[in-house]
Amino acid sequence: MKLCPNFKTLETNYLFADIAHRVNAYQAAHPDAPVIRLGIGDVTLPLAPMVVEALREASAEQGVKETFHGYGDEQGYGFLQSAIVDYYASRGVALAQNEVFISDGAKSDLGNILDIFSKDNTVLIPDPVYPVYVDTNRMDGRPIVFADANEGNGFLPLPDPAVHADIIYICSPNNPTGAAYDRAGLQAWVDYALEHEAVILYDAAYECFITDPSLPRSIFELPGAKQCAIEFCSFSKMAGFTGTRCGYTVVPEALANGEARRMWLRRQTTKFNGVPYIVQRGAEAVFTEQGQREIHEALAYYQQNAAVLANTLTELGIWYTGGKNSPYLWLKCPNGMESWAFFDYLLENANLVGTPGAGFGRNGANFFRLTAFGDQAKTAEAAGRLRRLLG
Ligand SMILES: *Cc1c(COP(=O)(O)O)cnc(C)c1O
Repeated sequence: MKLCPNFKTLETNYLFADIAHRVNAYQAAHPDAPVIRLGIGDVTLPLAPMVVEALREASAEQGVKETFHGYGDEQGYGFLQSAIVDYYASRGVALAQNEVFISDGAKSDLGNILDIFSKDNTVLIPDPVYPVYVDTNRMDGRPIVFADANEGNGFLPLPDPAVHADIIYICSPNNPTGAAYDRAGLQAWVDYALEHEAVILYDAAYECFITDPSLPRSIFELPGAKQCAIEFCSFSKMAGFTGTRCGYTVVPEALANGEARRMWLRRQTTKFNGVPYIVQRGAEAVFTEQGQREIHEALAYYQQNAAVLANTLTELGIWYTGGKNSPYLWLKCPNGMESWAFFDYLLENANLVGTPGAGFGRNGANFFRLTAFGDQAKTAEAAGRLRRLLG
């Protein structure tokens, strides 16, 4: 046999291992240092009580012959698809139930969707970026062009008509930059995709952090998007499902005359056997009135952290994106510092841990990511330390 040679083209991603290594070394030398981590990309609040109750009830059903569920439909149970259709309808987007596919999370679908696209497509990926988009395409050997996201464009690059691409990745609100496209910016990408007969793979994992009503929460709010986009969503950041696992992907019938939707259905029925019944009942509870109230309490907790950090950076006169409509803040390292140098500086002088921008691409070299997923008291303490160190 021959192993797939494309894996040799992957860059080893040492980012989180490097961070852990540096933090552990520092803690070993300074065992009493009160280190605060603002680098976590995982939620920290527990599941909503409504969700836990639904999980418990569904578990009990699985223990009774009359209510036991074996294999379900690969694309998900109708009860959850229909709750998602209603969720979109409340924002003015009409979907058919068979355009909604339930999965075990956005990351799997973002990788798996590539099965339905030819390997000779050119892929356009913004830099800095969530590393999954780059690595999944490298594994398949597709050519990649990068779109520069930088201070000049507020980390929201617009299409360059001179560059052709077939598959375009957009993540908005963005991880790592926290920047979110407005309608005009996103429409420019939709128009470009239609013109180039390209597809946009739209990662909306953070849509629930959008509070500004003028910003689109789904790409399908824009005219023409159903002809050129697939949307990936997740319960992970919305409702704390990072360890429970559930997401959904919308493949519109209008894309490639229904062929993309049918191919994705075929792909899923061949290689996937569905999300656990219990988990889908938990996800369904997110969309009940009580469930929505509860998840918005948790979201407000993180948004409060984001606001505290954002106000601190504003006071300090530090340039940043995000903090509003996103749990991430992406700041320009002071005095032209390189992101790893700033990482060490913060760790040593304020006992704060963040994520160096260099880990997300070339354009992150002088930037730094902070997250709002931490504890509220610790985040406030971290903000005070930032003020003292950088003020
Ligand atoms: C967290 C995250 C996801 C969600 O991934 P899951 O597999 O659903 O947990 C997707 N995209 C981005 C950019 C993320 O940061």
